[in-house]
Amino acid sequence: MSLIVQKYGGTSVGSVERIKNVAKKIKKAVDSGNKVVVVSSAMSGETDRLLALTRELSARPDPREQDMVVSTGEQVAIGLIAIALKEIGIDAVSLTGWQVPIYTDDAHTKARIRKIETGRIQEELEKGKVVIVAGFQGIDSFGDITTLGRGGSDTTAVALAAALKADVCEIYTDVAGVYTADPRIVENARKIPVISYEEMMEMASLGSKVMQIRSVEFAAKYGVRIHVKSSFIEEEGTWIVEENEEMEKIAVRGISHELKESKITVVKVPDKPGIAAKLFRALGDNNIVVDMIVQNVSHEGYTDISFTVNKVDADFAEEIAREVAEEVGASGVERNDRIAKISVVGLGMKTHAGTAGKMFEVLYREGINIYAISTSEIKISCLIDEKYAELAVRALHEAFIENQETIVVE
Ligand code: ASP
Ligand code: MG
Repeated sequence: MSLIVQKYGGTSVGSVERIKNVAKKIKKAVDSGNKVVVVSSAMSGETDRLLALTRELSARPDPREQDMVVSTGEQVAIGLIAIALKEIGIDAVSLTGWQVPIYTDDAHTKARIRKIETGRIQEELEKGKVVIVAGFQGIDSFGDITTLGRGGSDTTAVALAAALKADVCEIYTDVAGVYTADPRIVENARKIPVISYEEMMEMASLGSKVMQIRSVEFAAKYGVRIHVKSSFIEEEGTWIVEENEEMEKIAVRGISHELKESKITVVKVPDKPGIAAKLFRALGDNNIVVDMIVQNVSHEGYTDISFTVNKVDADFAEEIAREVAEEVGASGVERNDRIAKISVVGLGMKTHAGTAGKMFEVLYREGINIYAISTSEIKISCLIDEKYAELAVRALHEAFIENQETIVVE
């Protein structure tokens, strides 16, 4: 008998009909002799709707109260799934984050899971029930409801799978797996059968929206085997597992793109020690995550510092940058919301030279200017004008994925 954690995304539970379909899938796993723990997101569009309500009342709602509101979407979904299961003869019980309980820190709207007590879940499983847990939410040490950031149900599922030592964590979604590029943009994009945690983490953080990045970090840390698959078609999806040597044979596993960032530039900053520290400490103190940072070469004692943040944080980040700019005597702050970050990702880059050069060459051939570059051992990202995003993704996919010559032959 296996213990399976199944996570259903918003579109999978987007209507009563779809919830019935989910109930059938759960029943199938139960009938095959498995113990099943289900994690559900809110019905599709619900979290956005709830967030919009809070925004009608305040431009920056109190984070504790925002969590109180948006966490309700998952509560509805799990109750409905439990009802649907009972209707087809499967005993089930739904649990909110605080009923489990799933303890988090108190960083409302982006809390991190600290500890999961599995006693209640184990008890219910022993009674032969399917346990359905609300994704995305937890409880902090003050007893307040917290949420884990957008897409946080993935993290709930993986964390539960780790805590329960589940055999597999199945992530059911509206796509058939993880693709070599966004199939809506690249016609020849292919499903990746197996990908390493490391590559998936990069792809998730670089815009491939299949899973929340934190959930993959969690999976890597605890060795949770993940299977991402469609909740609408029956076929193997993408396995996310420990890396192995076989995986290094391909230089580039996938191409990611991200349109969700804004670039903010502090212009003509006096080039002296401590200024970058002041700026980025101020951003950090306000919980703003900075992605790329570029500091230009100094001219006559002045320099420009550019950085990118999620568009959601851009207004606030700009405000903070303006305050710091004034304080340190910079000449001003500029902002560009029309940028895209295009990345190539692959474990094979560790052993395969020339990927960066080839990437820049492909962009150059298409006449695309690069604003900033960042690299890690297994990825290269370029910041470009948003209007060239699709062109860049297609050209890079053709060069690296469709073109066989990039496969390393030892
Ligand atoms: N409902 C939440 C969201 O939309 C969490 C999730 O779907 O994973 O972000
Ligand atoms: Mg999701």
